[in-house]
Amino acid sequence: MTISRKIGIMLTRSSWIRKMFEEGAKLKAKYGADKVYDFSLGNPNLEPPPIFKEKLLEIINSSQPNSHAYMPNVGYPHVRKAVANYISKESKVDISENEIIMTCGAAGGINVALKAILDPGDEVISPAPYFAEYGFYVDNHGGLFKTVFSNPDFTLDIDRIESTITEKTKAVIINSPNNPTGQVYSEESLSELGGLLREKSAKLNRTIYLISDEPYRKIVYDDTKIPYIYDIYEDSIIVHSYSKDISIPGERIGFIAISPKAQYKDDLFNAMAHANRILGFVNAPALIQKVVAEIQGITVDISEYKRKRDMLCEGLRSYGYNFIVPKGAFYVFPECPIPDDIRFVQGLVEENILAVPGSGFGAPGYFRLAFCVSDETIINAIPGFNRVMERY
Ligand code: PLP
Repeated sequence: MTISRKIGIMLTRSSWIRKMFEEGAKLKAKYGADKVYDFSLGNPNLEPPPIFKEKLLEIINSSQPNSHAYMPNVGYPHVRKAVANYISKESKVDISENEIIMTCGAAGGINVALKAILDPGDEVISPAPYFAEYGFYVDNHGGLFKTVFSNPDFTLDIDRIESTITEKTKAVIINSPNNPTGQVYSEESLSELGGLLREKSAKLNRTIYLISDEPYRKIVYDDTKIPYIYDIYEDSIIVHSYSKDISIPGERIGFIAISPKAQYKDDLFNAMAHANRILGFVNAPALIQKVVAEIQGITVDISEYKRKRDMLCEGLRSYGYNFIVPKGAFYVFPECPIPDDIRFVQGLVEENILAVPGSGFGAPGYFRLAFCVSDETIINAIPGFNRVMERY
């Protein structure tokens, strides 16, 4: 074998999202793309807001010498300043550009954060269901990924998290609004988590970081509020991305915002600058950094996702599917009517519907539907959901 054994194993177990993507490509070739209802990927179907392209063109046309040159590994100072100003305003906590690192999306940001804090054998805990890539990211940096099942409504089970913390725990990763469940963690439960981490860090005499992965912070419905964790737990790190809220996942842009209250924030900043470099990102893309600096707070039209959510949820509910209505992000995570989620998702494939089994997110017995798709996809898929439900 010419590739590493480890990667070989990863490839054979390849993620369910990828598997469904490949399944979908085959179905589309056979039946035509409009006859396949693909809910498998969190690839936003809305176009970026028009101002994104306007600013992009403006910046290209006013290009100065060195516009495409290397820069500090943490990103342009003026861009980090614009991000810091925006978060300070939103969170009511003063953050400076010296706490901001521009990254290649949230994926890049999480890898940079983990690289900066993990020693081999350190443990990272995440509540399940969880974003499937976390396990790979933790492994990338020699860590051990440990998952903890959440309450039945997918809220945090603090007791379970407590019993999973050991003297090797280095971080807890949370994601709210959550992929795959659409659940949002309340301020009370986050405060409980903060209290637990504070107590355990003191007892174990090591800092346990709280990494809050927040690519869906701005995609929320029904006046849902996402608390900022800086006031809740000092040793916290926010990872944000513009992939979802302005629909630019291919541009690879996001940032890390270290809590200004973190004990070792300067060390963290320097370690992350170095990690960004040696992981091969070097820096986040120059042009798009400059664009996002100009459009802080801008999003796609979130009411479009709310409409899609309501359409899909109404259809699923009328056919007897059981699920919590997502408060944020663009996923719904219903229970399968049979325990075997893989068999159930196969049943959906027979109706040309692509979903991802809950097993891929550490939650067998469920399936995930990404509703960042066209209205026609939802409307045309609904009868298929009904037939599969009747069959089981
Ligand atoms: N974290 C979560 C929870 C996600 O759902 C995703 C993408 O789907 C990412 C991180 C990675 O996003 P990015 O495109 O910003 O790397």
